[in-house]
Amino acid sequence: MSGYSKVMLAVDLTEESNAVADQALALVERFEAQLHIVHVIEPLSLAYGGDVPMDLSSVQEQIQEQAKSHLSEFSSRLGIDPQNQHLIFGRPESEIQRVAEEAGADLIVVGSHGRHGLALLLGSTANGVLHGATVDVLAVRVGDSE
Ligand code: AMP
Repeated sequence: MSGYSKVMLAVDLTEESNAVADQALALVERFEAQLHIVHVIEPLSLAYGGDVPMDLSSVQEQIQEQAKSHLSEFSSRLGIDPQNQHLIFGRPESEIQRVAEEAGADLIVVGSHGRHGLALLLGSTANGVLHGATVDVLAVRVGDSE
């Protein structure tokens, strides 16, 4: 039977994650698939390079602690087992793909904003995930950038 057996839900842990999760859950129920979740923490050094003349390690630790508890709270509301929750450091686009592949997911679910102007040129996480993905990607339309 065609369908999906393992779904990787990527969340940035903003409000919009609920809408993305709803669609992932609907598919999981429909195909009796297993649900995994991933949140990627972008290291501050990656985001700002060497441009910030201060030690960012305690800020980074705080961000990590917050992300950890937020992800676990969000996941338990969805009934996702702790071993299927992935908290990763790196660039969201490539890490979402890597974790999905590693877990053997056959569908990645991400949110996608309707973008315009400069934001469109800069691209989005959904675009980045789609490029180079070896499995299906569902981009759930969220928010409104107009
Ligand atoms: P963006 O293009 O950055 O606005 O993000 C759109 C979608 O990409 C989100 O709804 C998530 O599905 C995914 N995403 C963005 N950032 C992250 C992140 N740090 N970790 C996991 N997924 C993310």
